[in-house]
Amino acid sequence: MIDSHCHLDFDTFKDDIDSVLARARKAGLRRFLIPGTTPDGWQRQVTLSKRYKDIDVAYGLHPYFLHKDNQSGLQALSEHLSHCDVMPLAIGEIGLDATVDIPEKEQLSVLDTQLEMAKDAGLPVILHHRKTHHLLLERLKAMKFENGGIIHAFSGSQQVAEDYIDRGFMLGVGGTITYTRAQKTRETFKSVPLSSLLLETDSPDMPMSGRQGKRNEPAFIRQVLSSLSELRDEDEQRLIDMTSANYSRLFSSKGTG
Ligand SMILES: [Zn+2]
Repeated sequence: MIDSHCHLDFDTFKDDIDSVLARARKAGLRRFLIPGTTPDGWQRQVTLSKRYKDIDVAYGLHPYFLHKDNQSGLQALSEHLSHCDVMPLAIGEIGLDATVDIPEKEQLSVLDTQLEMAKDAGLPVILHHRKTHHLLLERLKAMKFENGGIIHAFSGSQQVAEDYIDRGFMLGVGGTITYTRAQKTRETFKSVPLSSLLLETDSPDMPMSGRQGKRNEPAFIRQVLSSLSELRDEDEQRLIDMTSANYSRLFSSKGTG
């Protein structure tokens, strides 16, 4: 099983990363993908990925951590991509968030530049959304972005899910589906093709149902798995096999197993 989205470089894991990883591996996880958020974070990702062979990384500027002016961040990303000795599987976590204080125009410009970088590098992207599906789909189309990637923590309708899948994206299934009130998203995950799904926790954020207010960690991915299994009436082992195969297929050009 693979946790396709966990922020293990965040400070909250600094003191007990070894035991967090040990619990995760015991729960059946064999790979972890850490998406990038800030230039400082990329350095910690590099260190972690060198220390632990089961950690993959992506680099990007996350919409939560943008500033009024992001030229230096984008410049740093471009330099990091050309000099870093730990190759990323994707550019991310990038995207658009309607709930943060950065003007939409700035977010769009930072997103477009990062989509260009992904195109130049031949890499997929990890996309963050919040009340922005419509805008994101429009950007992917306008930028003629064909490398696909992951819609992190997908929530939304069947139609939106299909629009992303048609553009070569897979959907990250996380803690949202453990909440019975997430009716629409649960309905969507019931019927989208299994070949488009990846498991994720978004640790330390998005705690599962019953663990609100507590730090999330990769080992809890079991709860996502059992909710998905129940929803789709499909065997857990089959879900593990398929989502792991999806991950390998999405990133096959980078040689991940
Ligand atoms: Zn994230």
